[in-house]
Amino acid sequence: MVRARITAVDVRRPDLRQPFPKMFARRLTGQTVMALNRRAKYLLASLSSGETLLMHLGMSGSFRVLRTITPNATARDIGAHDHVIFYLSSGKVVVFNDPRRFGVMDLIPIGGLEAHHTVSRLGPEPLSKEFDAAALARACRGKKVSLKAALLDQRVVAGLGNIYASEALHRAELSPLRRASTIATSSGAPRDAAVRLVAAIKLVLERAIARQSSRGAYRDSPFLMYDRQDEPCPRKDCGGTIRRRTQGGRSTFYCPKCQR
Ligand SMILES: [Zn+2]
Repeated sequence: MVRARITAVDVRRPDLRQPFPKMFARRLTGQTVMALNRRAKYLLASLSSGETLLMHLGMSGSFRVLRTITPNATARDIGAHDHVIFYLSSGKVVVFNDPRRFGVMDLIPIGGLEAHHTVSRLGPEPLSKEFDAAALARACRGKKVSLKAALLDQRVVAGLGNIYASEALHRAELSPLRRASTIATSSGAPRDAAVRLVAAIKLVLERAIARQSSRGAYRDSPFLMYDRQDEPCPRKDCGGTIRRRTQGGRSTFYCPKCQR
């Protein structure tokens, strides 16, 4: 998409998780994609108009690139869950597919990105240098919520999902149920737990990226903890049993024996 002009946009339904912005197709048509970036789980396309196209895959969204097909022709390879189709000057066609429609597309006006309600409050990227034990401890200092809930708070760390939070907590031998504040001293300095947890988060995410995509991962289920309740703990010589528990409406999988 980068450096291509959007020649046409076919929006095939009125909404995804929320309605498409006003005049969505018209505001995109004729614009060149100047850059494509990611912040947390948001994909951000900077347009030549100065507006930013914000996209989120939700639970089941995906993009695919088709060979050239002509706009307005009913292409055989467009399916029922293909909701937005971008026709590009490069001849390529980018299709957004989302069976469950939890995805989001929004257009942010010029200068509005930093003030945008979802983007402005995001914490550091988990794989950035800014995200270290000191930063995590500072963010968790005095927090009475569970450590798992803190990790899912996008202001603490951006874009860490439910499954990877469980995997990282297991690797760091930390219970998801302990108070978030326990990884920091009263003055907000990192305890050993914060050091272990940051290292575990980075490792779990790096491995997931190396496996190329979480969508593939859902099918192959390479997770050590996720959806494995009542199975033996994967930690060598632990002998514990994986438990499932609901925290804040989300499932947490953990080993009560080795995660303290
Ligand atoms: Zn265990």
